[in-house]
Amino acid sequence: MLKIIWDADKCCHAGICVDSLPEVFRVEDGRFKIDPNGAEPERIRDVVARCPSGALVVEDDS
Ligand code: SF4
Repeated sequence: MLKIIWDADKCCHAGICVDSLPEVFRVEDGRFKIDPNGAEPERIRDVVARCPSGALVVEDDS
């Protein structure tokens, strides 16, 4: 399973992750939530690669 790490200090809130893959990245009650099981790993890696701030990092612990 993928482990997704988000660095709040780096995030510039461009919204690419939540717009591109809301099944995985979403804001609930003002908090950023990540569901690593919400989409195929390839799709998650693609969105993480497009994060402009480098706030998202994927670790594969399988
Ligand atoms: S794509 Fe990156 S910078 Fe943009 S909101 Fe998501 S984590 Fe933050």
